[in-house]
Amino acid sequence: MKTLTYIKKENLNTFLEKLNKNYDVFLPVQNKADGTINFESLDIVNDNNVINLKEKTRKSPKSLFFPPSENLFEFEYKKDIKKPDIMEIKLLESEKMISDETNSRKKVIFGIKPCDTMAVKCLDLVFGEGEKKDPYYIMKRKNTILISIGCSNVFPDCFCTSVGGNPFYFDYSDLGLIDMGQNLVIFKLSERDDLRKLLDECNEFFEEREINSDEEIEIKKIISESEKKCSSNWESVNAEDIALDMERKFSEEEMWKNITRKCISCAACTYVCPTCVCFNIGDEQTGMKGERYKCWDFCTNYYYTLEASGHNPREKIYQRYRNKINCKYNYFYKRNKNLYCVGCGRCIDVCPVGMDIREIVKHVRSLQK
Ligand code: SF4
Ligand code: SF4
Repeated sequence: MKTLTYIKKENLNTFLEKLNKNYDVFLPVQNKADGTINFESLDIVNDNNVINLKEKTRKSPKSLFFPPSENLFEFEYKKDIKKPDIMEIKLLESEKMISDETNSRKKVIFGIKPCDTMAVKCLDLVFGEGEKKDPYYIMKRKNTILISIGCSNVFPDCFCTSVGGNPFYFDYSDLGLIDMGQNLVIFKLSERDDLRKLLDECNEFFEEREINSDEEIEIKKIISESEKKCSSNWESVNAEDIALDMERKFSEEEMWKNITRKCISCAACTYVCPTCVCFNIGDEQTGMKGERYKCWDFCTNYYYTLEASGHNPREKIYQRYRNKINCKYNYFYKRNKNLYCVGCGRCIDVCPVGMDIREIVKHVRSLQK
């Protein structure tokens, strides 16, 4: 007989409060005034907002690993007036910034959706693997435990099942939970040592008993209904074929102009996307001291590719959108055998002119060539 380990939902708030004593807990919080849901610290939950684990967050949780703006290090120019042609640069703080992160309290992202954990896998491939790694990202990632709740609520713009995921995909979650009405049931448990420690610390909240056959049936039903609903939002995509198609139709300028004609290049879709990670590096300097920072950038923005000469290789909106779609469904796949779109649907939800990435891909595919 299999066992069922669960936490009673009536104890969830007390569990989270206890967790927050030893960890920095982030979770989806809905602002009562405007209804938006975003990942926030449990510390800010008050009478003006409410924890909402059922719906999607407007912004993805990527900023918890890849902040919109982040100081990399500080620097100071040293100039000897007797040798004015020689300038020394002293770097300050970079080691300290990384060690501050390493020594800070661990984070727990509670209620992260399975599609967003697939996006974390993409971020790992960009920042955490290969020859050049980003130590700032790696420290944050190592320091964070992902607790997912599978999606019993599937929205019309969700399409994770089309791009290799599913509403209960827990491969990238440290702990995967299923909402069974009264209880949150543990469905997946990773081997991470710090997760074991967390569970030991909060041992009193977890109950265990034998699972009965009705419950087994109920779990299967919850999973299959969500999968079915999500699959009906879009057909399944064959990544290999689609990458080839994108490649073949890259120079179909008229098609690209036509399918992107509504886009106003506002970059909202890239801002909310859990996998978009373009960034810029800049310096802020006062006198001889300054700091170097990394901040989000957007390939859908005109200035992203504007060169100092004034030439812009992606001057037109259709060229920039074509690049974005190719990044999601072609370039990244070729490098990593992993699509770069996780089907969260946020870009569809947020676009002010109603662009739908599924429609764009469908159009590209339907062009005979
Ligand atoms: S491209 Fe759109 S659907 Fe795909 S991961 Fe980004 S925001 Fe989500
Ligand atoms: S949100 Fe819509 S209009 Fe804005 S850049 Fe993206 S596709 Fe274009």
